[in-house]
Amino acid sequence: MRKLRIQASINAPGRDACEKPSWALSAGQPPAVSQQPGTVYAHVGQSFASRAYDVLIVGAGRMGAALAWQLRQRAPHLSLLLAEEGGLPNEEGATILASGVWHSDVPDEQRERAERTRALLGERLQPCGVLTLSEQGGVPPSVPYPASLADAAVLPGLRLDPRGGVYSPASVTLDAGQQAVRLGADLMLNVRCELRGGGQVALHRLSVTNTHQVVVDHTVTVTAAQVVIASGAAGPHLIENGLGQPTRHRQAYRQLPRLNVPSGPDSPVVRACGFVLRPHSGGYVVTPPILHPDPWGYQPVGGRLAGVPVGLRREVVDSLLPHLEALPALASEALVVGRSSADIPGAWLALPEGGWPRWDRLDEQHVLLLGGPHADLTGLAVAEELAEALAQG
Ligand code: ADP
Repeated sequence: MRKLRIQASINAPGRDACEKPSWALSAGQPPAVSQQPGTVYAHVGQSFASRAYDVLIVGAGRMGAALAWQLRQRAPHLSLLLAEEGGLPNEEGATILASGVWHSDVPDEQRERAERTRALLGERLQPCGVLTLSEQGGVPPSVPYPASLADAAVLPGLRLDPRGGVYSPASVTLDAGQQAVRLGADLMLNVRCELRGGGQVALHRLSVTNTHQVVVDHTVTVTAAQVVIASGAAGPHLIENGLGQPTRHRQAYRQLPRLNVPSGPDSPVVRACGFVLRPHSGGYVVTPPILHPDPWGYQPVGGRLAGVPVGLRREVVDSLLPHLEALPALASEALVVGRSSADIPGAWLALPEGGWPRWDRLDEQHVLLLGGPHADLTGLAVAEELAEALAQG
């Protein structure tokens, strides 16, 4: 059963509109103009009169919130509504569960965007270093081998990216949303958007019954000159249903099990065999590789390990099996496998065609903005590029 989140931290006491932004994007531009903060419509009790906006962003995950913030900086004359089905960020979106690892091991054509994203993260990025283990090469004497995680006989190669590190995509998103509102964007939470074509969007405002069912309380239709669909894995589906445009983007359900191997504040991230092990709360969060997309309508179910039902879905178990010798910790009881899929944190993730965050103009009024598995690395730069394009009109 889904929960409805009445999230109003934007207006929370103690974070007044003049407070120094905690996410001063290190590119360092101050806001272009000072102006009135926008309105936050957190729940259906707050009446909202339908009006036209210049830009409406559907989804306040990390891509949508970053776009809103950057657009308010670049084009303060454009009125903006950021509309989100849940809270900021949504507990069920990809953003809250993203591993938040940045490293510089990207293809050449993505390098500039990755560097720009790092610059935009600024002090948000804790440069704990990212170790990449491989079958080739030896261990440089200055870098300790993470023996509790991997077997040096199988993976002797070790490369350290000292500029790599970790951050919290959820707090970056929250701050971006807050900044956007301070700079004049309206934000509506707990609203499910439906595309109606021609820049029209139905806003289904959600409420919760006393039996905890999420229901549509009422619907308002707004028109926007530009509608940006930044709805993560739901985006392609919304476009196909609302605009009749099929896309080639896919989706996958990603699970992030915990690994109870001790880590400290200075432990580096470890990348090996397609897995990313991020130090977190004294242990590690495991990000498994995505081996293939999931069909629409797939419901995550647990798999089996040695005949025993577990919460890890079968695809994750399949991705582990060939690497248990190289990464013995993943074969030990330190890996939290759960009893049902609900025990393992997971989220739907868009799989953009080409694999990397991108934006695509769909028609004169609609743009698709997709993050996906590499949004940690280049997502902010792609949102900034779209903000630039929209600001230029
Ligand atoms: P991304 O990394 O692309 O930002 P997320 O899944 O984190 O992806 O964010 C997408 C956001 O879009 C989620 O917070 C989700 O709740 C929101 N969303 C999805 N569909 C809708 C919709 N129809 N109306 C409003 N918000 C939506």
